[in-house]
Amino acid sequence: MTYASEFKLNTITHQISGLNETDALALLAHVFKGEIIFSTSFNLEDQVITDMIHRNNIPVEIFTIDTGRLFEEIYHVWSRTNRKYNTAIKAYYPQFNNLQEFIEANGPDAFYESKQLRKECCFIRKIEPLQRALKGKSLLVTGLRLEHLPEGRSVEELEWDAINQVTKYHPLLYWTTEQVSSFIYDNNIPYNALHNKGFVNIGCAPCTRGIKPGEPYSAANWWWEQKSVTEKTNAVYALY
Ligand code: SF4
Repeated sequence: MTYASEFKLNTITHQISGLNETDALALLAHVFKGEIIFSTSFNLEDQVITDMIHRNNIPVEIFTIDTGRLFEEIYHVWSRTNRKYNTAIKAYYPQFNNLQEFIEANGPDAFYESKQLRKECCFIRKIEPLQRALKGKSLLVTGLRLEHLPEGRSVEELEWDAINQVTKYHPLLYWTTEQVSSFIYDNNIPYNALHNKGFVNIGCAPCTRGIKPGEPYSAANWWWEQKSVTEKTNAVYALY
């Protein structure tokens, strides 16, 4: 990170401190005009942010990544969201050739066989499309909350993502699960029915499961892998 971008990050962090999420989003949309983008997986937090953006006409582009292995319920909530806000959320898809080559070499469910193959699958289906979505953008809005992180880990609302070379803004970082649920309910926002079955971060169907009360969020994805705290943190970040 250069001195200039660090200075800019500190300045903007100061400018948004004390603002509510909607006003902060509006300010960031102004400062990062045309370079701000929001990644949605249609989880509860994402739906809150989508509602804030649309209801307040904040010029933030919204996109999703369709890995090709998503739950059917995600497509339902995606369609309902498009209808509610009279929009068409843009999707990025894996590159066909990369996917075909990977599946021909390793089979359709190779992610269960080794961590390496799981990471390759994630790269082809998620990371490479994300990199394409982020081209020319400098601020990524996410639905990350502190409760998603392993115990003892913290992040800033506005932080530099060295891997993707963008600033990330997590407007709901300090929201509780109850706040998110109430916002969804009070504003009649469409949500993924799987949340009613203990699902939290809902992504690809073969790699996501519901969790029991008290289980960490990281238990919801790639549960068959042994993970260190760092890997758990990285796994959570990979979802945002
Ligand atoms: Fe592949 Fe599972 Fe990663 Fe989805 S979450 S991209 S299916 S390994």
